Amino acid sequence: MDSKYKYSPESLMMSHGYSPEWSEGSIKCPIFQTSTFVFKSAEEGKAFFEVAYGLREKKEEEQLGLIYSRINNPDLEILENRLSLWDEAEECAVFESGMSAISTVFLEFLHPGDVLLFSNPVYGGTDHFIKHILDKYGIDALGYYPHQTKDEIIEMVRESGKGSRIAMVYVETPANPTNDIIDIQMCKELADTYSTPEHKCLVAVDNTYMGPLWQHPLKHGADLVLYSATKYIGGHSDLIAGACLGSNELITRLKTMRTFLGNMAGPWTGWLLMRSLETLKVRMDKQAANAEKVAKYLQSHDKVKNVHYLGFLKGEDKKIFDRQCESAGAMVSFEVKGKEKEAFKFINSLTLVKLAVSLGSTESLIQHPATMTHAGVSDEDKKRLNISSSLIRLSVGVENSDDLIHDLDQALQKI
Ligand SMILES: *Cc1c(COP(=O)(O)O)cnc(C)c1O
Repeated sequence: MDSKYKYSPESLMMSHGYSPEWSEGSIKCPIFQTSTFVFKSAEEGKAFFEVAYGLREKKEEEQLGLIYSRINNPDLEILENRLSLWDEAEECAVFESGMSAISTVFLEFLHPGDVLLFSNPVYGGTDHFIKHILDKYGIDALGYYPHQTKDEIIEMVRESGKGSRIAMVYVETPANPTNDIIDIQMCKELADTYSTPEHKCLVAVDNTYMGPLWQHPLKHGADLVLYSATKYIGGHSDLIAGACLGSNELITRLKTMRTFLGNMAGPWTGWLLMRSLETLKVRMDKQAANAEKVAKYLQSHDKVKNVHYLGFLKGEDKKIFDRQCESAGAMVSFEVKGKEKEAFKFINSLTLVKLAVSLGSTESLIQHPATMTHAGVSDEDKKRLNISSSLIRLSVGVENSDDLIHDLDQALQKI
């Protein structure tokens, strides 16, 4: 075999990190539905715990032994190895939800007195955690907006007097639901500005909107990349899970926190996600191809305005997109002419496209951000973020694109 040849992640999703010899020749990794693992000897149990509890360094080639499923389980470890390939990350930690990945990152890497600099808008659950939970632990937050320049953000931080306490820059790009793009490299430069020799300011990127295929934040200076694996990675609207990837050092810290919060995913979820990963590329390719057709159709329709699709970016945004993204993705938002009444009439008239929050799944999903996912956003921020009463968000699935356009078309006619 040519050892220099490097297989693409999609070719490795069926086999990487698993050997059929371990399980009676079973081609698929079984579900290790077990809480605990039997040690061969007391000496082995002692050695495993020394590594798990950090009592000594791992020897070269030594792996963390299987102890107990809150610490590790083959379905999670193999899944983590496979997920790491897409982002070319050293390590990955899988969680029972996207929110548990995000909250564990905050709890591990922020301390009382620290300030979190974050992009607006972030996912509603993240926004709540930042404003109402971190607050209880004495962690302050400062929000910035898409299209603010680095200098404007630095000026805002200076005026707040909190610059010396910034410990993390947290970004969600493209922003949900309007696909506003934020430059990850700029966020890295901001983090460098607030880093000191004693304390490195980290950059964490929630990459859920682009999945592990279409944007690789670690390559653009991020330290941590986060996913709600409920979305593209799971991809079938049948599970809740999350993941965080980064360096060995950071993910080891995160996994230690995970062990004590106990918010790892279970073996069944791990197994389902491995099954999902086998088709990740074909699903996402088809979703992106469908989204391009749907976005073009919507843009040409006289009852539709302001189609927000990454493929339509211009100027400075387009430059950031070209540098940072590998696809225009499968999320499209747009306004129908009119207000909430017209938007609801349209949504209620759809038959193939389903009315539900969430995204990235095989079926196309539509929702009304102003009254659903972004109902908690203040009127002032809604205005600033262009979340109007006629804005609709569409997550494009793998259906036949002609069928999708047919359904959208007949519903637009009902307005
Ligand atoms: C859904 C979502 C989350 C939260 O993930 P859960 O799996 O629902 O906990 C976080 N960030 C983004 C961008 C999301 O879309």
